[in-house]
Amino acid sequence: MAASSTSDPIVRVARFVDRTIAEGPGERSAIWVQGCSIRCPGCFNPHLFTTRGGTPTSATDLIARVVAAGTSGVTLLGGEPFDQAAGLAAVASGVRRAGLTVMTFTGYAYPYLQGGDRDVAALLEATDLLVAGPFEQDRLDHDRPWAGSTNQEFVHLTDRLRDVTGPDRLEVTVTTSGDVALNGWADPETLDALLDGLPVRRPRR
Ligand code: SF4
Repeated sequence: MAASSTSDPIVRVARFVDRTIAEGPGERSAIWVQGCSIRCPGCFNPHLFTTRGGTPTSATDLIARVVAAGTSGVTLLGGEPFDQAAGLAAVASGVRRAGLTVMTFTGYAYPYLQGGDRDVAALLEATDLLVAGPFEQDRLDHDRPWAGSTNQEFVHLTDRLRDVTGPDRLEVTVTTSGDVALNGWADPETLDALLDGLPVRRPRR
């Protein structure tokens, strides 16, 4: 589930967004990691299954970038954050030391993670709000923000980020070169109708 710890571990990063309002409460930074061993049928991010690719980045550099972004915290998603628990535990701990919040998405069930190794325990320890459980495409969640399917559990590991109400948001970013990128959640039919014909990257949890 996790690599061994070093003093400044490396995280294989698929994407970093400095500011978004679509990946958790408030304005947050978001880090998508490369690699997922769970591979849920219907996952929106099959390009993140492989551990090849992404950009190896030190925990120290990621912490600095989150803090410099000036947001209320960071959201970790993927890919599977707990497949890189050592590196992300270091990132989450550093972000928390800076007074910011940490939200982590995982395809693992919370009871399974509770039996994990010390790196898994460290990432849980540094997470305020965990959204846990695999994506189940026949149980789409149309009611709760950020959750992809109704089986996924919101686990409040601290008293911060208690407010998980509000709308699901889909955030569309268009660069000056015409690239279109999405953050947030919408069901597949809505996405297909919205994006028909557009050259889009679709990072999802
Ligand atoms: S939904 Fe998440 S846990 Fe499931 S395959 Fe996709 S990235 Fe992995």
